Amino acid sequence: MTDVAASRSERPEMARAPLLDDDDAALFPKLTDAQVQLLRALGEVRATRSGEVLFRAGDATYDVMVVLEGSVSVIVGSGSDERELAVQRPGDLMVELNLLTGQVSGATGLVREPGSVLAIPSSDFRTLLGRELSFGDFVLQMLFRRRQALERLQLGLRIVGSRFDRDTQRLREFAVRNRLLHEWVDSDDPRARAWLGEIGVDELSGPVVLLGGGRFLTNPTSGDFADAVGLHSEPLAPDKPYDLVVVGGGPAGLSASVYAAAGGLSTALLDAVALGGQAATSGRIENYLGFPAGISGAELAERAQIQARKFGVDVRVPRRAVGLQERNGFHVVALEDGDALLARSVVLAMGVHYRRLPVPDVGRYEGLGVAHAVDVARQELAAGGSAVVVGGANSAGQAALSLAHEGHRTFLVVRASGLEASMARYLRERIASDPAVEVLLDHEVRAVGGDGRLARVTVEETATGARRVLDASALVVLIGAEPPTAWLGSELVLDDHGFVLTGPSLGAAIAQSEPWRALGRAPFLVETSRPGVFAIGDVRSGSTRMVAPAAGEGGMAVRFVGEHLARVPTR
Ligand SMILES: Cc1cc2nc3c(=O)[nH]c(=O)nc-3n(C[C@H](O)[C@H](O)[C@H](O)COP(=O)(O)OP(=O)(O)OC[C@H]3O[C@@H](n4cnc5c(N)ncnc54)[C@H](O)[C@@H]3O)c2cc1C
Repeated sequence: MTDVAASRSERPEMARAPLLDDDDAALFPKLTDAQVQLLRALGEVRATRSGEVLFRAGDATYDVMVVLEGSVSVIVGSGSDERELAVQRPGDLMVELNLLTGQVSGATGLVREPGSVLAIPSSDFRTLLGRELSFGDFVLQMLFRRRQALERLQLGLRIVGSRFDRDTQRLREFAVRNRLLHEWVDSDDPRARAWLGEIGVDELSGPVVLLGGGRFLTNPTSGDFADAVGLHSEPLAPDKPYDLVVVGGGPAGLSASVYAAAGGLSTALLDAVALGGQAATSGRIENYLGFPAGISGAELAERAQIQARKFGVDVRVPRRAVGLQERNGFHVVALEDGDALLARSVVLAMGVHYRRLPVPDVGRYEGLGVAHAVDVARQELAAGGSAVVVGGANSAGQAALSLAHEGHRTFLVVRASGLEASMARYLRERIASDPAVEVLLDHEVRAVGGDGRLARVTVEETATGARRVLDASALVVLIGAEPPTAWLGSELVLDDHGFVLTGPSLGAAIAQSEPWRALGRAPFLVETSRPGVFAIGDVRSGSTRMVAPAAGEGGMAVRFVGEHLARVPTR
């Protein structure tokens, strides 16, 4: 523990009321005596003195603490922007969601009134959550509520950069997909100038990520950004084979990892961008069993990520797989950065990539108003601005409704003459009764325009050729997707569209070919043309393209992984 230089009296900003209400029992429920006893068995009591720093924003490892006596200020931001988030008093549990998702601390804990705390090592706390299920659920619910409160306050790291700059867009997308608490501020904003002045940056040569506590990065790679927020894991051990390597951390890959690790298999999970996949970009998933009011994609992803870490999955993000070969009886998964992982079995769960609109210049506006996920598009929209959503499937319907719900006039552009064949009835009904959504059937996008960023979308009624120019600063393109399997083409059998063929769809004759004949079996239901390599979720030929089936296939694949491993000799 270290002392701070400035006392509270030298911090006028602390005179303001805390940002969160400490008496709000939903955010700061007092621990019961029984819960404190549970934690006492794992921690040690420490005396605290006024002005002492218990943990600091940016710390990679820090203890979970219960305030026993006195009080602690939880502080966010830095420099002139420093604010007191909350005051923690006896019975309050000081822990962040970051601790469970492997990120660095986002706040500083500064002792206000001396007393004592119970400090519990974070690894012991994580183990306890997995063991004491009702306490684990109590903590998780509290952390999700706190996370929502922090999101509303737009706290967290800051990305300063021009809205016209591609690297700024890249970093914003990385932050959105990884559910990092963050705020993006345009470089023209006076607040941005003030913050940059505080860290001594006069001229912007690229986007700057302000991490808090005076730490910052200038135009980092996604890998460096991940390192700085604590998303990177231990260096790879190149000669140590995993029982299972899972490529892709959407619902399918997360599910496979959780089932495998829970069943005792050593498991690594790679994702090129972020855990959660497409599902994490969905505003609300309403057809996932057990959530009658729906669940946000981000929360579902967060929960699955915590579950994967709880069971000891070795999570590697951001890491992109670029090659798959066999060597000495092992599968070798090559990574973009030159590393490789050895595996006794592999699950491929790379989902799909969105199709681009066949419209001139649309690429110029990618990230500058044109997006393939509603969460990304949302950031482009000023209050009350208009949006165009293209597509006739459920994802397009959900996107249109959520933008309309947030006060944006929304045009839903659909090539077909109706939505009956492609969109769920409950979505069609809500769209029909929402005056903020205008459905343009039999229409296609013909042109996009704007001065640097998207401002106009020209649509055409296909039967008549009549054109209409829509003023819109966001265009959400949800017109289907392609599998990211080009790197597998010579290794596995794919269908005509590039999706991975598995099980019976490979044809009965495959069982007579090598190496299957030697194994004396045909491929299992979700097994590819190579024994021990499985494909699940949206990337699999014939998949249903939904969250629940993707997660279900994860569980199914692990059963077959087990059967495969039981039949091949252990090396
Ligand atoms: C906006 C939106 C709303 C949706 N709403 C719903 C809904 O309400 N209900 C529903 O059931 N379904 C919904 N879906 C569909 C659902 O999200 C998908 O069917 C599901 O996410 C598929 O899961 P997956 O794991 O197969 O793939 P994905 O979720 O696509 O995940 C694949 C992951 O693999 C990673 N990856 C790709 N290539 C590589 C590589 N080479 N190396 C490493 N990683 C790689 C990607 O970064 C990605 O994170 C929605 C989809 C969208 C886009």
